[in-house]
Amino acid sequence: MSEKNEYPPVGSEITGNTESMAENYNQGSTSDPAILGGSPVRNKPWPAWPEWNQATDEELIMKVMRSGVWSRAGVVEEFEKEWAKLIGSKRCLGVVNGTNALITSLIQLGIGAGDEVIIPPYTFIASVQSIFQAGAIPVFVDVDPETFQIDPDKIEARITSRTRAIMPVHILGLPADMNRIMAIAKKHKLLVVEDACQSWLAEINGKKVGTFGNAGCFSFQNSKNIPMGEGGAIVSDDDEFMDRCYSYHNYGNPFGSAVGEVGSGTVIPGNKLRLTEYQAAIGLAQMARLQEQTTTRNNNADYLKSRIKDIPGILPYVFIPGVTRAAFHLFPFRYKKEQFSGLSREVFLKALQAEGIPCSGGYTPVNRMPYIENIFKSKNFKLMYSEDLLDYNKYMERTNCPLNDQLCREAVWFGQNMLIGDKKDMDDIANAIEKISSNASRIKEKTDKAV
Ligand SMILES: *Cc1c(COP(=O)(O)O)cnc(C)c1O
Repeated sequence: MSEKNEYPPVGSEITGNTESMAENYNQGSTSDPAILGGSPVRNKPWPAWPEWNQATDEELIMKVMRSGVWSRAGVVEEFEKEWAKLIGSKRCLGVVNGTNALITSLIQLGIGAGDEVIIPPYTFIASVQSIFQAGAIPVFVDVDPETFQIDPDKIEARITSRTRAIMPVHILGLPADMNRIMAIAKKHKLLVVEDACQSWLAEINGKKVGTFGNAGCFSFQNSKNIPMGEGGAIVSDDDEFMDRCYSYHNYGNPFGSAVGEVGSGTVIPGNKLRLTEYQAAIGLAQMARLQEQTTTRNNNADYLKSRIKDIPGILPYVFIPGVTRAAFHLFPFRYKKEQFSGLSREVFLKALQAEGIPCSGGYTPVNRMPYIENIFKSKNFKLMYSEDLLDYNKYMERTNCPLNDQLCREAVWFGQNMLIGDKKDMDDIANAIEKISSNASRIKEKTDKAV
C-alpha cells in the first residue's frame, strides 16, 4: 500500500493515536477491541508488494542491463506479444503508464474538442484526467452501489448530441457490465475505451475485459497486480488504430499503415511514450505469476465474502451477471454504521487497523474536486467550448451522482496483497470485523468521549 494516491487517508474523527488511547482504556483482556487496549487479532505482517524473486526474476533484467539496449527493442516486443496472447487480443502496445494508454486511445479514436465521454465517478483520478487531456469533457453516470460499477440503466439519460464515447472502468478489479454497455454503444454509435487499469485477467463469460470495446487500457504501476514501477498497455484487434497508436507514442513517426507519403517524414501529431527494455523485463517476470495469483485472489475473496456477508451492516461487493473471474485489485464492501451502533466509518477503519488489518475508505468523489473548474477556466477549453458548456454549476447539476457520493462515504477496501495469502489470513480479517461488530457500542462510547 505504498501508492498514497490510491489509498487516500481516511478522515480522522479521533484525535491522538490509538496507542495513547489504549493506555487510557487498557483493560487487559484479549477479547477487548485493540482500539480500546485489547490484544489485536493479528500481529503478523501481510504479504509485501511488489514481489521480486531473485532466482526467477533477475536473469532477464541483468541481461538487459548488461546489453546496454535499454530503449524500446526486443524485450518490449516480447512483453507486448505475451500480453496480447494472455488477454486474447490481436495487438498490444506498451506505453509509459495507464494514464497515457487512455489518452492515446481516446486521441487515436478521434475523440477531442467538442466531444463528451461517459464515465463513472467511482474511479481513480487518472481516468477522468485522460478525457480532459484529449480535449473532451467527461460526463459522469452514477454507479450501482452493489457492484461498485457504472449503472448501465443510467447511461442513456446522459447521452447528448455531443457524446462520442463511453469509458467503462472495471473498478477495483471487478468487471463492469460490458454486454449491456456495448449494446448501448452500438445503439447510439458510440466508441468504447475500457479502463482496465485495475482489471488484469478479469472476465465476463470467459472473455477478458479490455477486449469488448474499441480499445482496452492497462496499468502496470507499482501498486497494481502486475507491477513494473510505471508502465501501461493498449490492446485492440484494430490494426489501423494500433498502427496510429504506435506512431503517436513514437513522436508521430511512420509505423505500419500510418506511413503517409514516401519520404514525407513525421506523419501525425505525436508524443513520446515508449516503454523501456528493463521495464518490460520486470513485466515479464511479474506476468509469470499473474495467473496463479489471480486465482488465489479469487478464491480468497470468495471465502472472505462468505465469512463476512452475514455480519449486520457489512455489504460485500456483488458481481454483475456473467463474471467468471475478477482481478480483485481491491476487496470492497459497504459499511452501514446504523448496524454498528452508529460507529462512524472513520472509527471503524481505525478499529480494524488496530486489530492488524490494513484498510482504507477508498475514493473521494472525483467529480467534486477543484481541477474541473480550473480546466473550464483554462485557455484551451475556453477556445474549444461555448461559455454555456463551461458553466460549472450547470455542468455539476447535469453530471450529479448522488449514489456515488454515498458509496464514497460507505466503502471499505482491503488491498490485493492481502488476498494472496491463505484462508487463515482471511479468517483474521473476518474475525476482526466480527470483534468490532460485537463491541461496536462500547467502541463508540469510549471513542466519542476521547474526542
Ligand atoms: C492506476 C489507474 C490508472 C492510471 O494508471 P497509471 O499507470 O497510474 O497512469 C487509470 N485508471 C485506473 C482505474 C487506475 O487504477
